[in-house]
Amino acid sequence: MDCIFCRIAAGEIPAQIVYQNEDVVAFRDVNPQSPVHVLVIPREHVQGPLALGDGHAALAGKLIAAAAEVARQEGIAESGYRLVMNEGRQAQQSVFHVHLHVLGGRPMHWPPG
Ligand code: 5GP
Ligand code: ZN
Repeated sequence: MDCIFCRIAAGEIPAQIVYQNEDVVAFRDVNPQSPVHVLVIPREHVQGPLALGDGHAALAGKLIAAAAEVARQEGIAESGYRLVMNEGRQAQQSVFHVHLHVLGGRPMHWPPG
C-alpha cells in the first residue's frame, strides 16, 4: 500500500488523530494553513472527489458530518469554518486519497486563491 493516507488510517504512519469512527479518520494537517486545519478522510481509498459516485453518497455525507463533529470539538462551530476538497492539477490536489480540509480559527477570504 503506497498511499500515505491509507497508511495513516491503518495506523502505520503517525498522525495527530482528532476524531475517528468506523468509516472516517480526521487528523491535523502537517502543514496547517489556519489555526485549525484538520483533514477528514474515508478509510476506503478513493482517489478524489471526481471518483465519488452515487455509490459513495453515504460516505461523502459522513465526511461532512465528521467535519461538523471536528468543528464542535475544536471550538470553531460557532465562529465558522471552511470545507475544501481539491480535485486535480489546477486545484493543486497533492494527495490522491480523497480528503476534506476543515479550516478555521481565523477569518477566511473570498474568493479563495
Ligand atoms: P491537497 O493539496 O491534496 O488538497 O491536500 C493534501 C494535504 O495533506 C496538504 O495540506 C498537506 O499538508 C497534507 N499532508 C501531506 N502529507 C501529510 C502527512 O504525511 N501527514 C499529514 N498530517 N498531512 C499531510
Ligand atoms: Zn489511500
